[in-house]
Amino acid sequence: MLCIECWVSPGTYADRGLPFYRYPAELVAVSTGVFEGQQCLMTPRTRSQWRAMHTTAANDGVGLQICWAFRSADQQAKLIRDQLAWGGKLDYLLTWIAAPGYSEHHTGRALDLDSFPPAEKFEDTPAFDWLCNNTWKFGFKLSYPIGNDSGFIYEPWHWCYQDIIENTALHQSCEVRKI
Ligand SMILES: [Zn+2]
Repeated sequence: MLCIECWVSPGTYADRGLPFYRYPAELVAVSTGVFEGQQCLMTPRTRSQWRAMHTTAANDGVGLQICWAFRSADQQAKLIRDQLAWGGKLDYLLTWIAAPGYSEHHTGRALDLDSFPPAEKFEDTPAFDWLCNNTWKFGFKLSYPIGNDSGFIYEPWHWCYQDIIENTALHQSCEVRKI
C-alpha cells in the first residue's frame, strides 16, 4: 500500500507555514443544505453559523449546499490514494488536496460549498458572489483566494469558519480574490 506520509516531507509544509491541524473537541451532524445522502460533521458553532448563513442566502434567492465538511486524516489519505489510483500525480494533487494532518477540514470548521442546484463553475455563479459579499457577517473566510501563498490553488469553494469574528479583516480578505 502506498504510504502517503513517506512521499510528503513535513519540512516542506512547515516551510510553507502550514499549520498541523488537530481535531475539534466536539463534532455534530448537520442536515441543513447538505448534498443528498452525505454525512456531514462540523463543530457546533460552525453548524449554527452555517444554518444562519444558509437561511439568509435562501431569503436572498441564493441556494447553497455543502459538499464536504469535517474530514479525518484517514479520509484525507483515502482521497489522495483514490486520486493516485485514477492516475493523478502526487505533486499536483498536493496543490489542491492537503496531506493528512494539514487539511483545514480536520478542524470541523471548513466547508466545501456549491450552489444549489450544483454549478459547473462555482466561481461564476451568483452564489459565489453572494458568499464573497456576505460570509464575513457569519464569520466565514475564503481560505485560499487567488494569489494565496499557502501553495494551494485558488479554491473558491473552500470557506472556513473563524472562531473569532473579526469582521473588518474577514471582509478585506474576501477582496483579495478580485486582485
Ligand atoms: Zn475544502
